[in-house]
Amino acid sequence: MSATPSILLVDDHSDNLLALEAILEPLDHHLVSVTSGTAALRELLSHDFACILLDVQMPDLDGFELAELIKQRERSAHIPILFVTALSTEERHVFRAYSAGAVDYIFKPIDADILRSKVGVFVELWEKNRQLRDQAEILHRQELAALEQASEERYRQLADAMPQIIWTAGTDGGATYFNRRWFEYTGMTEDEAGPAAWTKVVHPDDLPPAVARREQTLRSGEPFEVEYRFRSQSGEYRWHLGRAVAIRDEDGQIAFWIGTATDIHDRKLVEEQRAFIIAAGDELSRTLDYRESLRRVAELASSEFADWCSVHIVERDGSISQAALAHRDPAQITFARELQERYPPDPNAPTGAPAVIRRGEAELMPEIPDQMLRAAAIDDLHHELIEQLGLCSYICAPLRGRDAVLGAITFVSATPGRRFGAEDLKLAEELARRATMAIENARLYRDSEERAQASRVLASIGDGVLLVDRDGRVRLWNAAAERITGLAAGDVLGHRLAEVVPGWNTGTVPLELDDRELWLDVSAVATEDGTVYAFRDLTHERALETMRQDIVATVSHELRTPLAAIYGASLTLRREDVELEEQLRRKLLEVIAEESGKLSEIVNDLLLASQLDSGKLNANVEACDPREIAALEVAAARTHLPENVELALSAPAELPQVAADVGQLRQVLSNLIDNAIKYSPAGGMVAVDVEPREHFVRFSVRDRGLGIPREEQARIFEKFYRLDPDMTHGIGGTGLGLYICRELVRRVDGRIWVESDGRTGSTFVVEIPRELQPVTNEYRSGERPVVRA
Ligand code: ADP
Repeated sequence: MSATPSILLVDDHSDNLLALEAILEPLDHHLVSVTSGTAALRELLSHDFACILLDVQMPDLDGFELAELIKQRERSAHIPILFVTALSTEERHVFRAYSAGAVDYIFKPIDADILRSKVGVFVELWEKNRQLRDQAEILHRQELAALEQASEERYRQLADAMPQIIWTAGTDGGATYFNRRWFEYTGMTEDEAGPAAWTKVVHPDDLPPAVARREQTLRSGEPFEVEYRFRSQSGEYRWHLGRAVAIRDEDGQIAFWIGTATDIHDRKLVEEQRAFIIAAGDELSRTLDYRESLRRVAELASSEFADWCSVHIVERDGSISQAALAHRDPAQITFARELQERYPPDPNAPTGAPAVIRRGEAELMPEIPDQMLRAAAIDDLHHELIEQLGLCSYICAPLRGRDAVLGAITFVSATPGRRFGAEDLKLAEELARRATMAIENARLYRDSEERAQASRVLASIGDGVLLVDRDGRVRLWNAAAERITGLAAGDVLGHRLAEVVPGWNTGTVPLELDDRELWLDVSAVATEDGTVYAFRDLTHERALETMRQDIVATVSHELRTPLAAIYGASLTLRREDVELEEQLRRKLLEVIAEESGKLSEIVNDLLLASQLDSGKLNANVEACDPREIAALEVAAARTHLPENVELALSAPAELPQVAADVGQLRQVLSNLIDNAIKYSPAGGMVAVDVEPREHFVRFSVRDRGLGIPREEQARIFEKFYRLDPDMTHGIGGTGLGLYICRELVRRVDGRIWVESDGRTGSTFVVEIPRELQPVTNEYRSGERPVVRA
């Protein structure tokens, strides 16, 4: 606004204008002269005037019309108008002029002094007005400033009251303001809080990415948002979410930045802990080798949660061993191990893993107490460690299993400012709980695996194994037990052992099962669950043993009888006091010869049997005449035939030759005929038949004497086996005859068996292959002959 007042002069005659200018010149005002109403309106649009001198009579727009227009415009309505006219002094005109808004009227000829003084008054009025306006303006501005200051103060108070850190920064990013929370949190003084103060408290690991991001947003003007750790007064780093937004002026240019930093540490920690627990859980469930799992978890914990992590386990023998030891920096492990080796941990220490295992209670030490530090300061060598320990925070949580404490997991933080608290203890205990579960699962699995393996072993071993629980019921009955006893597991399991196997005992016990006699060698072990028995079948051994005893008895008896006869006869012959008659002497010598023959027969049988056993006897197989062989043996038997026995041979005139060893075949027939006679104590017919068959020649020796029970018909061919070892029928023998027969027949691919109804009479049948016939029977050399019932 111009300080010099302006005066608008309007007249269509420039002479008049010049005259006016001349009069007003001395007032030293700024004079604007125009020659038309339109031009005047134009001037009024751009200028403020102290007053207007207006000619009434103008051609296009006369003074009155112009005045009305001026008064209608708000901006110009207040400008005083002085009409200048030569026209008339008529009342009518004056009235019109005033109603058009004129303040005064000046008539021509103009009195210069009057005009000057009138204009002077208006100008003075204008200047007063202007001063008033200016004063009001100043006042207004002062009020505004006061108001602004008050609101800024309010914002500042608000900012200070906020629990967040708030700052403002210039366009270069340098801080210009920090709220109270900032100073409380960082412990900085006003002087320390320079433009780059935030970089001094951000964690060194988080600074580079934060600075890079900040530079980027300063350029682009987009909001800045980043998570970083701020160091607190106490030295602890806490996670914050930093944000800054640009505040722009009316032109859209960045004026400054407002930033906040919100403490998200607890939330972040919970997130991290959850992630850690999940990761640890994964590790723990990955394998059933729980020691390996614990090692992995310790490694995970030492990088995520603590600096050190170790796991102690209670071994089966009750000793405590370290199952895992991990550190953020693996180089530290070697050092720790050396230390542990040199100074083994004291199992009776009042604190630490053994104590936690003993008590089953977790231990939290936000700071390691002094006395512990001193205790650790065993020698100067470890001052480095002690220094470290001084910064340590420690948690040890027990691995509480269902029945006992399985071990303990220890966490140590050696990061300055990282102190374990109640939250960390919770996390440690949660981890311990999961580790415990993993250990128990692994152990359960291992036990069941071992059990499964044991049961596989039990199923496949040859010894019978059974478990009898405390109630005396059978809980386990393996395959061998089934096989040996013939009792199926289904019939035994769940039943009382005494009921299913009466007479059960330990040692060598005979058992009657299903009309079968079993000899078992039973041993027992008492266990927590009952008694485990193992047994093996001694029946066969037992039979052999019995047989061995029988042999000794039989053979010695068989030897003793002829020996006694020979001895008696020779003693009589040697007597000098008695003169023996010649007939008696001959008789005694006959006895000696006969009994010696029997002895040599027995010895021959023994020898032959042992040769057959050892495979030393060869068969000299040739073509021989079956009829002739049978006839020879029948004739031989007739020489000593008891009176009550009849012996008959029946053989067709035409018979095919057989492939056999003549001497051995004769021995077979001789044995069978002798037996038939011998075992017919009541006498009767003994019939020897020879008949041709498709591939064989069949010899059968039939008697009417003692029968042979069905179940014994196979066994009589065994070595030394006799039906009547006690000789109730008074018939002696070695039990070797039929064994020898069987072995000899077998050697020529023949067959031998007995047929008997078990009561009266027996028929022994021998089949010998025909000569030059391909041997097409199903029995190959070396196999047992068939003994048909
Ligand atoms: P030993 O006649 O010397 O006892 P063997 O081996 O010849 O021995 O016979 C075995 C057993 O078979 C005999 O003890 C006897 O009990 C029975 N045995 C053999 N032949 C006959 C038969 N013909 N009649 C009844 N039993 C017989």
